Amino acid sequence: MRSVTILGATGSIGQSTIDLIARDPDAYRVEALTGGRNLAQLAADARRLNARLAVTAHEDCRAELAERLSGTGIEVAAGAEAICEAASRPVDWVMSAIVGFAGLAPGLEVLRRGGTLALANKETLVAAGPLVMETARRHGGTVLPVDSEHSAIFQALRGEEMSSVERVIITASGGAFRDWPLERLASATPEEAATHPNWAMGQRITIDSASMFNKALEMIEAKEFFALAPSQIEVLIHRESLVHALVGHNDGGLIAHIGPPDMRHAIGHALSWPARAPLPVERLDLAAIGQLSFAAPEAARYPALDLAYRVMEAGGGAGAIFNAAKEAALDSFLSRQIRFTDMSGVVGAVLDRFLSTERRQTAMADLDTIIDHDRRARLWTKEAADQLA
Ligand code: NDP
Ligand code: MG
Repeated sequence: MRSVTILGATGSIGQSTIDLIARDPDAYRVEALTGGRNLAQLAADARRLNARLAVTAHEDCRAELAERLSGTGIEVAAGAEAICEAASRPVDWVMSAIVGFAGLAPGLEVLRRGGTLALANKETLVAAGPLVMETARRHGGTVLPVDSEHSAIFQALRGEEMSSVERVIITASGGAFRDWPLERLASATPEEAATHPNWAMGQRITIDSASMFNKALEMIEAKEFFALAPSQIEVLIHRESLVHALVGHNDGGLIAHIGPPDMRHAIGHALSWPARAPLPVERLDLAAIGQLSFAAPEAARYPALDLAYRVMEAGGGAGAIFNAAKEAALDSFLSRQIRFTDMSGVVGAVLDRFLSTERRQTAMADLDTIIDHDRRARLWTKEAADQLA
């Protein structure tokens, strides 16, 4: 029996993880589930899976969670520190599926105790890639990619030498606005941006798919996880979302990973790694699908991609700045303070401000420095958004 903890259990990835675990109750023991404000879901899953601990991120939710779990013997806790404490408990496998920067500190806790971290929270590697990978190395921790593109690269690399890898291509559906006329983008609402042609995901990542900030994060995530140079990373529009990534070798061969657009494939791969196990996902009928299409992304439609190259070239704290500015710009768009098309301008301005004041840093930033970058970038983003509004 393997012990598992799920951080962000109430979200889209968390629920898909629970779906897999609940199918095989004799194989898993659940140590901790963490969530935010969805206390009904958190309590129901903690009961159903007989978790030892349930944690909400919010102090003001503690009493309600305790009430919902009273009489069960399930321990209840609240707050960011309690989530880190949950993450530090020794288990065989931890899913990191909190959304945003809040996922970083608990993930580091897992790696510090030499644990295995299935990483859906891409912000962890964007904001703190060198620190995260070094922490894993130093303490014997393992990071397993869950983001579908990175799981695809990881799978395509099985049995291959990194030294023969020339390039990595990650695919993108193009998001909600791939067919909109460019001039219409400025008027796009959060509701329109929060629909995805192929994947069912959380609201924030779905909007990030429409702006391709999600792909920008994934480029940086790939650079950090697979230790690639920025010039080795390419993005290709692939409307069908079936080829998730391709790895190009120095002999001209391209190894593609094809799978259904169902996150349970990537989650399940990380759950049974290094083995493979049967998964309840669709078996693709390629004859029925008939065609796969590929196209170059338009720079004018997706300015976030150029920003990602700038961040990767700059290195140092640029990732933490970019991640925080993107999160804060998305908040401003969600509150209708700025337009959809303003997000990239605001993030670009914050990046400019950072790179003009900060010398290029090569030293690995520690968590305090990264938190400081994050705080500063959110302030600057607010200033830039206020100026626009
Ligand atoms: P959701 O928004 O669906 O879920 C987020 C989870 O984090 C919920 O459990 C939420 O709790 C919790 N949460 C929110 N804020 C905080 C906080 N401040 N502290 C602690 N917990 C918090 O997100 P997704 O599942 O879509 O995404 C999770 C991560 O996985 C993201 O980093 C995303 O980029 C990445 N990812 C997601 C994919 C997908 O298909 N969804 C694909 C690839 C990567 P509650 O809802 O109870 O408030
Ligand atoms: Mg992805």
